[in-house]
Order: sequence, then C-alpha cells, then structure tokens
Amino acid sequence: MPDSFDLIIIGSGPGGYVCAIRAAQLGMKVACVERRDTLGGTCLNIGCIPSKALLHSSEKFHEAGHGLAAHGINVEGVTLDLAKMQARKAEVVGANTKGVEFLFKKNKITWLKGAARILAAGRVDVAGTEYTAKNIVIATGSDSTPLPGVEVDETTIVTSTGALELDKVPGHLVVIGGGVIGLELGSVWKRLGAQVTVVEFLDRLIPGNDAEVAKQFERILTRQGMKFRLSTKVTGATPTTSAEGTSQVSLTLESLKKGTSETIAADVVLLAIGRRPHTEGLGLEEAGVALDARGRVVTDAHYATNIPGIHAIGDVIAGPMLAHKAEDEGVALAELLAGKPGHVNYNAIPGVIYTWPEVASVGATEEQLKEAGTEYNTGKFPFTANGRARAMGMTDGLVKILADKTTDRVLGCHIIGPEAGTLIAEVAMAIEFGASSEDIGRLCHAHPTLSEAVKEAALAVEGRALHI
Ligand code: FAD
Ligand code: NAD
Repeated sequence: MPDSFDLIIIGSGPGGYVCAIRAAQLGMKVACVERRDTLGGTCLNIGCIPSKALLHSSEKFHEAGHGLAAHGINVEGVTLDLAKMQARKAEVVGANTKGVEFLFKKNKITWLKGAARILAAGRVDVAGTEYTAKNIVIATGSDSTPLPGVEVDETTIVTSTGALELDKVPGHLVVIGGGVIGLELGSVWKRLGAQVTVVEFLDRLIPGNDAEVAKQFERILTRQGMKFRLSTKVTGATPTTSAEGTSQVSLTLESLKKGTSETIAADVVLLAIGRRPHTEGLGLEEAGVALDARGRVVTDAHYATNIPGIHAIGDVIAGPMLAHKAEDEGVALAELLAGKPGHVNYNAIPGVIYTWPEVASVGATEEQLKEAGTEYNTGKFPFTANGRARAMGMTDGLVKILADKTTDRVLGCHIIGPEAGTLIAEVAMAIEFGASSEDIGRLCHAHPTLSEAVKEAALAVEGRALHI
C-alpha cells in the first residue's frame, strides 16, 4: 500500500511550504515534494533572499566608499572582499532554508525528496515510489525565460542564478531586460564596481509600474551611472576571447526606433526578460491538466484545476510572480481545502523593487485607471519636503496616491524613495479595508518619519498637504 496523505504539495517555494504549514495547522496530514537539496524554492535559494543579501551588502560597500563623507565621516581604503560577501549570502540562504526544514518538523510535514510526477488525480510518483493523497497542489514555480540566440552558460551569459554567484566583478555587465531582476542585480554589480548597460525592448523601464515613477527611476539610476539602451533589441550573442585571454561576449543590438545595428562587448551578460511557469516533467498532459496559452496552469477562483483534486498556486498560475502572492494563495487554498473561507485580494498585492531608492506600488496605476475610464484624483508629495528624508540625506523620489474622484476610496499608490517597500504596507492596508485618502490623511503619523510623506500625499489628494 502506498503512503497516503490528505495533501501532497509539489514544490517547497513560498507557495508550497506556506500552504503545507497552514494545512498542517488545520489538521491535515501533509507531504511536500521538493527535488532540490534544500527547501524554500526559488525565493529562498536563488531569488528573493540571496538577491536581498547582496543588495544589502553592496549598498553598505557603496555607502562606505561614497556616502559617508557627506555626514562628516571620512573612511579611507575601502576594499571589497567579494568571496566573504558571497559566503555571507550563502549563510543567509542556509539559515532561511534550514528554517523551513525546522518548520516542517515542527508541523509534522513529510518532505518527500525527489522530483514528483502526477500519475492521476490522487496519485503522485516521487523518484519511483508512489504516494496517494486526497488532494494534490502544483506549486512548481517558474524558470527564467530563454532568448533565442543568447545561449545561457551561467558563467559568461547568466540568468539571475548565475548573476548571484559571480566570483569576480565584471568590467562590463550588459543586462538584457529593464525589469525587476535586471535593475536589482544590475544595481548590485554597479555598486561593486561594474559598468552596467541595460538593454530594454520597450521605450521605458519596469513596464506595468506607474510611468511617472518609472521615468524618475530611470533618471536616478542614470545619475548613479547605469546606462540604458531603450527601444533596443538584442539580435545575437557570440562568445569571444579578449586580448588578455578572458571570456567575453559580443552582443549585436538593433535600435527599434532608428533601425540601426551595433555591436558591444560584455564581460558578463545577464538575461532577465521575465520568467515562465515550470510545468515540465510533471505529467500534466497525461493527467489532463489544462494550461493556458502562456503555459500557466489554469485555475478557478479556488485554485482548482480542471481535474478534480488537483490544485495550483504561485508562479505556475496567472498573476504577479511574487513570493507574497504565492504565500497568500497557499494559505487561502489550505483554508478552502479545510472547508473555511479562503481569499486573496489581488487589488491589494504590493510590489517592491529593492534598489536604492526603492520602488513600491499597490493597486492601480494612472495608466490603468485611464484605460478603465475611472475618474480619479491624484495626491503627490516629494521626499525633498519630508524632514526625516532630509535628515537622512535621502530626498530622491515621491509618494503618489490615486483616489476615486467620487468616493475618495484609495485605488493605488506608487512610491519611489527611501524605505518605499516598508511605506507601501500602510496603503495596502488602506486598500484592503476600503479606506479613503481622507482616512489616511486623518491618521496620526509619528514625526519625524518617512511615513509622513504618505500622509501628506493623501492630504494632497484634496489639495491640502501641509508642508508643500
Ligand atoms: P518557487 O519558489 O519557484 O518554488 C517551486 C519549487 O518547486 C522549486 O524549489 C522547485 O525545485 C520545485 N519543483 C519544481 N518542479 C518539481 C517537481 N517536479 N518535483 C519536485 N519539486 C519540484 N519575489 C518577491 O516577492 N520579492 C522579491 O524580492 C523577489 N526577488 C526575486 C529575485 C530573483 C532573482 C528571482 C528569480 C525571483 C524573485 N522573486 C521575488 C520571485 C519569487 O522568487 C517567486 O515569485 C516565488 O519564489 C514563487 O514561489 P512558488 O512557490 O510559486 O515557486
Ligand atoms: P520583468 O517582467 O520584470 O522584466 C523583464 C523586462 O525585459 C521587461 O521590461 C521587458 O520589456 C523586457 N524584455 C522582454 N523581452 C526582451 C528582449 N528580447 N530584449 C530586451 N528586453 C526584453 O522580468 P524579470 O526582471 O526577469 O523578473 C521576473 C519575475 O521575477 C518578475 O515577474 C518579478 O515579479 C519577479 N521578481 C520580483 C522581484 C521583487 O519583487 N523585488 C525581484 C526579482 C524578480
């Protein structure tokens, strides 16, 4: 008789492991299959956590070399020990993945080690052994999207995985894709000394984000020394060897506006043009699980696929590819399977880019509201007028709040500035609770804090900001 569970979850990323914990809390007998040697998925192993460790370390390095003199602190002889920085990152990753292993033990969740294949509803093969379950959850995440003509070797032409592991600062890093990964990891290597050129297909950065914020972001990153080739496509990448015998890449670029071509040399190329759902080798076709045109598992509002007993959450289904979105879906699904109400409000999922300054958003952008024909008021407040930001010497950026013209209900917020990722939580809560801009404006915010910029932007919706 095969081992039997209430729930088998395939994949231990933030979707899978959080679903496993919540289901165990609700009394289910749970197994989670993971083929990696460590738990935590893309997020903990090769995504959110290692990238934030390197962003934090590189920010400190940059500040020590360039940011302290303005405060009257003179530091000389700042040097980089990249091996130590990378070792620290590995320790951070290890502590987090071990943390999930601990949580599995604490919640009596069985880790089935190996690659899973669905044999049919209720039946899963893991490394040649069959297990049965009342319900199966596909939480297999995503992989980076390839680009024909740009062959990834993870040393010279890398995805985010290789870009997190470089053992030398590249002289010239060319990033293909001006999205989240390209700008976060581009920032890391820029701060550590690389020349960074970002090649972006569209005429703007971070598509999907507020256009005004994206423009400011581009200006600030340009001032930091990043170079941008917008409206440009990469048509080929040829590995070459430099005069000193080191590996390089010759990239051919085509300007979409001018129709001209040119060739540039890179020491490392980072391919970051998006991620695609991971569904290979799972037996989905044989089990009859439907995928959409973009290869994502199709689910209903309760995360059920077209096959009864098979569900899916996280990057492998539609929606933003974000760890907290996957986690919230994991919790909602476990609760639904336990007969409770489970729900995710997709209008209140924040997105954060952990560069300096940070970029954070929640809810609708102005472009989306215009397209939907929704009438709205806008309130903006720049960090130059915030006392704390001045004290910190971090006055780049603004807070922008969008509220319904008739009801004043908050519809969206877009922030570029210091601690934007932390500040956005307040507005996510306002959207979740259906608050108005007046509600935020009337809330007492501690002084002097960056959060006062959020209050002032809310007041500015009705033209009554106090400090501008
Ligand atoms: P994943 O985390 O991808 O986990 C899926 C797991 O399933 C993997 O461990 C995989 O090995 C396993 N698996 C796949 N197939 C099988 C199989 N057949 N059998 C067994 N196991 C299998 N998001 C944020 O919100 N904030 C960030 O700061 C952030 N930074 C990121 C930085 C980088 C460089 C990258 C690449 C991503 C980042 N993300 C970030 C996105 C985030 O990592 C994903 O949205 C999140 O990990 C998705 O979670 P998931 O559970 O759906 O899948
Ligand atoms: P992305 O979708 O953020 O950006 C990809 C960029 O590449 C876009 O600007 C797109 O226009 C551009 N592009 C596409 N094809 C191109 C081509 N042929 N040539 C040049 N440019 C091209 O994707 P990403 O940066 O790879 O990140 C993938 C996912 O990972 C994102 O969905 C994101 O949600 C998630 N992620 C999140 C965080 C975070 O939350 N801080 C960090 C990293 C990754």
